[in-house]
Amino acid sequence: MYIMREYVKSGGGQMYFGSVRFFKDLIVIGIATILALSLGLAIFFGVKYSSLKKEVEENSAVPVISDVGDNTADEKKSLEEFYNDMTKQGYDDDEILSMIEEKSPEAFDKYVANVRMIRNAPAYTKAFPDLYVEAPKKNGISDKTIYLTFDDGPCENTWNILSILDKYNIKATFFMCGADTEEEIAVMKKCVEKGHTIGIHSVSHDYEKIYTDVDSFLADMQETSDNIYNATGVKPNIIRFAGGSVNSYNKKISKELCEEVTRRGYVYFDWNVSGQDASQNATWTSVYNNILNGVGNRNNAIVLLHNKNVSVYVTEDIIIALKNRGYSFDRLTNETTPSQFVLPTDEELSEQ
Ligand SMILES: [Zn+2]
Repeated sequence: MYIMREYVKSGGGQMYFGSVRFFKDLIVIGIATILALSLGLAIFFGVKYSSLKKEVEENSAVPVISDVGDNTADEKKSLEEFYNDMTKQGYDDDEILSMIEEKSPEAFDKYVANVRMIRNAPAYTKAFPDLYVEAPKKNGISDKTIYLTFDDGPCENTWNILSILDKYNIKATFFMCGADTEEEIAVMKKCVEKGHTIGIHSVSHDYEKIYTDVDSFLADMQETSDNIYNATGVKPNIIRFAGGSVNSYNKKISKELCEEVTRRGYVYFDWNVSGQDASQNATWTSVYNNILNGVGNRNNAIVLLHNKNVSVYVTEDIIIALKNRGYSFDRLTNETTPSQFVLPTDEELSEQ
């Protein structure tokens, strides 16, 4: 025992391994290693974490908009969301625009165009949100076809026009001013029932009132559309301006009017043959000749008539004469290629 203890005290030889001191040292070294390793890992991950955190913060401060789709609608939405997020975070417009320009030049171009378009749009584009229809995908017009149109109804004469059209199994178009009485509502309904087209004309037909500005025009158009819809259950999608798309009352705003109704999905129809039956001097002979001569050798024609007495007298004879010339008759739809007057140029407007 003694010898053994002495030997250990001397610390020499192979007996160190497995000795108490060996185990003490082993424990100390183990603890030190674990501490060092933990510290190292802690420092490593600490640095890594803080750089990751910084990266995340940087990226969320300037979100990447590369996930913006090719689809314009998606893109617009994403850009709007992006814009709103950035605004909430306190960035001003110029800063947001630079972010978009940097991240996606293509989106930048579209976004700027979109922002400018919305900011520069006239106030009336935001008015009358119900005054929209689906625009036609394509337009066309049939050969050897006459499109008879009757403006300013409904009235008592409309019944007579309907029965003439019925007799020859012809479809036509009525640009209506709206119904006030039970009788007028009934004839409007009959037009739809018989398969004719009803288009918007003007509930007031007061040129000075409706052509004051675009807002006044749209208010009248909305009222006319509502009136027709309430009477027939059909929302009209074609229009004829009172007095035509370009006239002495609306010349200065005609371009805006035409652009605005088109932007809202409506197709507007002028005419290329007029019976001039609304004129005070109109007679059976004058209306008949105006139409027959006006149609001439045309391949097709959009013919302007009204709901006047003279119009009723002459319509049957016009139908017979044009049938004899080989024409068919049809109603207008928003897919018919419209006849439209030439809009005044900027020079013409500035000369006034
Ligand atoms: Zn009219």
